[in-house]
Amino acid sequence: MTEARPRPKMRTVGGTLEDFERDLISNLYYQRGTTLESASGPDAYHTLAVTVRDRLVDRYARTAAAHYAANPRFVYYLSAEYLLGRQLRQNLLYTGAEQWLRPVAEDLGAPLEELEAYDVEPGLGNGGLGRLAACLLDSMATLDIPAVGYGIRYEFGIFKQAFRDGAQVERPDDWTFYGNPWEFPAPDDRQVVGFYGTTARALDDPTGLRRQWTPGETVRGEPSHMLVPGFGTQTVNMIRLWRARASRESFDLSRFSAGQYKEAVEDIVRAENISKVLYPDDSTEQGRELRLKQQYFLVACSLRDIIRRYRLRNTGWDGFPAKVVIQLNDTHPVMAITELMRLLVDVYRVDWDLAWSITRRTFNYTCHTLLPEALETWPVALLERLLPRHMEIIYSINHFFLQEVAATYPGDVDKLRRLSIIEEGSERRVRMAHLAVVGSTAVNGVAELHTRLLTATTLRDFAELWPYKFHNVTNGVTPRRFIRLANPRLSALITDRLGDEGWLTDLERLERLGDAVDDPEFLTRWREVKRQNKVDLARHVERSTGVVIDPEALCDVMIKRFHEYKRQHLKLLHVITLFNRIRENPDLDVVPRTVLFGGKAAPGYHAMKLLIHLVNAVAEAVDTDPVVSRRLKVVLLPDYNVTKAQFIIPAADLSEQISLAGKEASGTGNMKLALNGAVTIGTLDGANIEIRDRVGAENFFLFGLNTADAADLRRHYRPRAFYEQDPELRAAVDAIASGVFAKGDRALFAPVVDAMLGRDEYLALADYRSYVDCQEAVAEAWRDQERWTRMSVLNSARSGFFSSDRTVRDYCDLIWRVEPVRVSPA
Ligand SMILES: *Cc1c(COP(=O)(O)O)cnc(C)c1O
Repeated sequence: MTEARPRPKMRTVGGTLEDFERDLISNLYYQRGTTLESASGPDAYHTLAVTVRDRLVDRYARTAAAHYAANPRFVYYLSAEYLLGRQLRQNLLYTGAEQWLRPVAEDLGAPLEELEAYDVEPGLGNGGLGRLAACLLDSMATLDIPAVGYGIRYEFGIFKQAFRDGAQVERPDDWTFYGNPWEFPAPDDRQVVGFYGTTARALDDPTGLRRQWTPGETVRGEPSHMLVPGFGTQTVNMIRLWRARASRESFDLSRFSAGQYKEAVEDIVRAENISKVLYPDDSTEQGRELRLKQQYFLVACSLRDIIRRYRLRNTGWDGFPAKVVIQLNDTHPVMAITELMRLLVDVYRVDWDLAWSITRRTFNYTCHTLLPEALETWPVALLERLLPRHMEIIYSINHFFLQEVAATYPGDVDKLRRLSIIEEGSERRVRMAHLAVVGSTAVNGVAELHTRLLTATTLRDFAELWPYKFHNVTNGVTPRRFIRLANPRLSALITDRLGDEGWLTDLERLERLGDAVDDPEFLTRWREVKRQNKVDLARHVERSTGVVIDPEALCDVMIKRFHEYKRQHLKLLHVITLFNRIRENPDLDVVPRTVLFGGKAAPGYHAMKLLIHLVNAVAEAVDTDPVVSRRLKVVLLPDYNVTKAQFIIPAADLSEQISLAGKEASGTGNMKLALNGAVTIGTLDGANIEIRDRVGAENFFLFGLNTADAADLRRHYRPRAFYEQDPELRAAVDAIASGVFAKGDRALFAPVVDAMLGRDEYLALADYRSYVDCQEAVAEAWRDQERWTRMSVLNSARSGFFSSDRTVRDYCDLIWRVEPVRVSPA
């Protein structure tokens, strides 16, 4: 008998700069097939990225092994969007290799800025919802929570925004043009997903609840994954992204040979269209069938993968919810509920009642909105065609659910109608939020006010039926990306003051900065950090727009998607008011301000695209007026994304959070800005309320109607009354109407004026006076720089609650009930 040869051992990466440099040269040579002398920019970037990535792989392998051994309960986060932000700096920081960036860039002969320019942010999301998903994954890894994020690998992410003569133009975001070095393909885990087709009764099932679906089309899901490292720990989780591919037989060789080139690839194109683009709209539905296909594609692939993973260590279905908790990020992945039912009942032959009990114990649902138009519904007719078996399952779920409702509220037909998963009407539709609530153990809102309104209005009947299902989990943001990476100067100052970097994983420690507000030297250093950040931002703004801004001016920022409820137009009315005041009285003593807007409008959202055009037009009018431009600057920075956010937020003095009360679910931009020492001017909306409660009313500029007063006013609202009563408001609106911002063209921006004086859906005119007066209080506070700096420090010091680490702990305590798994060092 020959003795077994020992298995070869992996030589893991070394921890010194020399090790790093040796691996770098080796990767350049063996992976890119080039040398230091002849490497191009993309070669240099790619090699650096891969060398950093190598340092995560060892941790990832140990994490997988620890998870396999512990067989823990996993969190599976399903989200149609992830807004991850750039990976290079993050992974340098998380691997401890950050300090080598400079010497290594020198080795590569490439300036740092050029290297970073190749580090494209994966724009796989629209805004706050996608960024929340990314923050939660970061915190789950940091807290050693076993978790996997599932999403779609869109070929084109959120469009790139540019301006032509002030109007928004959208360009495709070909984010993998140079390849994505952060991604590992995993072809062995591919899945096959069906669409269309027919269903038939399973002959051996007397209940009729089990049926057979024969799809009319099948598509392959090809997975790849990106690593999600925890900070200050060994855990590296992953996010698995699915790309749609045609099944192997789709290429029609005979047609191709006959010269029918287009027809030969028709099936391939149709299949691959599924993961082609992210729908650039975060509030209303469009793209219809293809969008629904995307949603089902994501959940079908992900559920098969979750079941595959479950079966690696477990057998039987009863124990499934003990090992699997699935969090649905909004309604986009809600078809997962029907898909799990189908798999259990039709494929694995689990009895309906047991399958339903397993399903309900597995899922939880996060609601992200209050706007009725953002509550997703799908036509029954479309579902019957695209996913016939799932529509049957929805009918059955609804049937049993309504029986339960009828037993609870005998004779209350209206209750049944309101609670039903199916909306009756000229076109019958499936209410995805209802399906989500019925099929979940826990439902959560994302800020205290939001949860309260959700249970009092939007989902009120459900909250009465199942009060114990509803929870609040206030959103948070990761301090690693939004303080440490975005604002290294402030981070160094905080670390210096607090003694170590422990605050980065225990953000409530910032509280101790509060002691520093009476230390004039600390205040001076704080102010100097902000000033230097503004100098950097000014350079960035000048390079990308040509506009020169004064770093000494009050930096007033409104950065978020353009949406009517967020009320960029209210901010613009304030800007025009300042413009009018300075023009009328050139000697007026005003506080110099830079008003910085950033944000995209959905391509089909014409009112908001016009508003973007108007912002640019006002910016130009301000800039070309010699008197005004000395005290006021307006800039709309193009293509707002996570990378831009990381530039802008550290430089902000004033954070604009001015949505109409009761409309913004939470907001997270508000948290990022407060943590970086911006003072908020805001309404009692979303998480603004919780920010104000913590930082103190004296460190927050509050204005506007509250939710109840806004609802009251709505009933008899006449925007013209406000317009007629307030000369400054009238002047601002009239200025838009007069065409002064459109070279005399009165028609161009007329729709903006009509919307304001007509319905003024979000009561901007009603809040105008309160807002403009509040901005005067801001200016007064700014004149006393010491007072302002104290406010700024206290905003950071008291916002530690808004770490996404706390958010994840809340999810763990209230909903997930998962335990961390420690991964031991190599
Ligand atoms: C944080 C963030 C958002 C969300 O901003 P809100 O002000 O909460 O709407 C949107 N986009 C990007 C790029 C972000 O980083």
